[in-house]
Amino acid sequence: MIYLDNNATTAIDPEIRETMMPWLLENYGNPSAGYRFGKLSRKAIETAREQVAALIDAQPDEIVFTSCGTESNNTAIQSAINLRPDCKTLLCSNVEHSAVLEVMQHFETRGYAHRLNPVDSSGALDLEAWGENVAADDLAIASLIWANNETGVISPIGKAAELAAEHGVFFHTDAVQAVGKIPMSVQNLPVHSLSMSAHKIYGPKGVGALFVSRDVRFQPLFFGGGQERERRSGTENVAGIVGFGKAAELAKSRLDEAESIAAKRDTFEEGVIAEIEGTEINGDPSLRLPNTSNLYFPGVDGEGLLILLDEADVCCSPGSACSTGAVKPSRIVKAMGHSSERARSSVRFSLSRNTTMAEIRDAIAAIKTAVKKLRVTMPSGGRVVINS
Ligand code: PLP
Repeated sequence: MIYLDNNATTAIDPEIRETMMPWLLENYGNPSAGYRFGKLSRKAIETAREQVAALIDAQPDEIVFTSCGTESNNTAIQSAINLRPDCKTLLCSNVEHSAVLEVMQHFETRGYAHRLNPVDSSGALDLEAWGENVAADDLAIASLIWANNETGVISPIGKAAELAAEHGVFFHTDAVQAVGKIPMSVQNLPVHSLSMSAHKIYGPKGVGALFVSRDVRFQPLFFGGGQERERRSGTENVAGIVGFGKAAELAKSRLDEAESIAAKRDTFEEGVIAEIEGTEINGDPSLRLPNTSNLYFPGVDGEGLLILLDEADVCCSPGSACSTGAVKPSRIVKAMGHSSERARSSVRFSLSRNTTMAEIRDAIAAIKTAVKKLRVTMPSGGRVVINS
């Protein structure tokens, strides 16, 4: 199998798995217990908190462990909304992950106005529009994805956060794809909250974190036993949190691997572009995550391509897949102003530190064969019609 879907999830690093094992087996004490057996778990959680904080240059007490990136986004957005009852407008970009977009859309049904800030055809945020949008006087929250999950395009977080700060607006960023892949520091950045998830950086599924700046007020999403210093009730997923801590520590020490991952990604893209007529990259090639490649194959049905690649044992993703696996034209590619045809004919390939050059070579060959097969059966008889 050639696994090129690492933005969906990554394989657990063996070192992380080993670190987690004692917390799944013998060290099962409840971290809230007063006896020493429980305190062992508490100490492991606090070590993990330091490791996750260090990855983004935050203070450990600014990290709240959650169950996933989705929960982190929901918590941040609903906290900001609930603490500002007079503010009835919500802002995000039009290329957010559904874990931000759908939360804000949900609040539209409760009378909130929801503004979507545009991006251009390269996926870059329209900063002028952002500047105008953050000036709205009843904004409860402005949220911007740090790096896009489909195209890998990196947002101008610093500038966007500063513009929000000029108007005293609460600023959240969904950094689930960016964290651990590119250097990141919340020091001297007016970011109030930031979402992370362990399974995107070789850690376990089912554990995330929310950075909440010491400078802001916060309201929990979950009430109950008062864990996480009253910020997220529920008995902690100790093994998952320990795994996240280790994943953060390793990611920080391996940030310089980005160069070699980007080199493999570039070889992959150059190969595909050279071998398959009409292939184009979606998103600014110079401003992307090192591991992400989103490619448009004119005249090729993306869903058909995924099926043929699956048969060839290559795992990759459409623009977006819902939980049933159904493929829809990418709303991200459409938000970049491209046609529905382009959105239907685009596929995301995302590499990991484990991707080999041999896999890259074999994947290029498999994609070439699959595209050829699909183009022969298409109505134009295989003639490539490039729809600009
Ligand atoms: N935000 C982004 C940008 C993502 O890519 C994802 C996962 O694909 C999420 C949020 C949700 O994270 P989780 O799967 O941990 O809920």
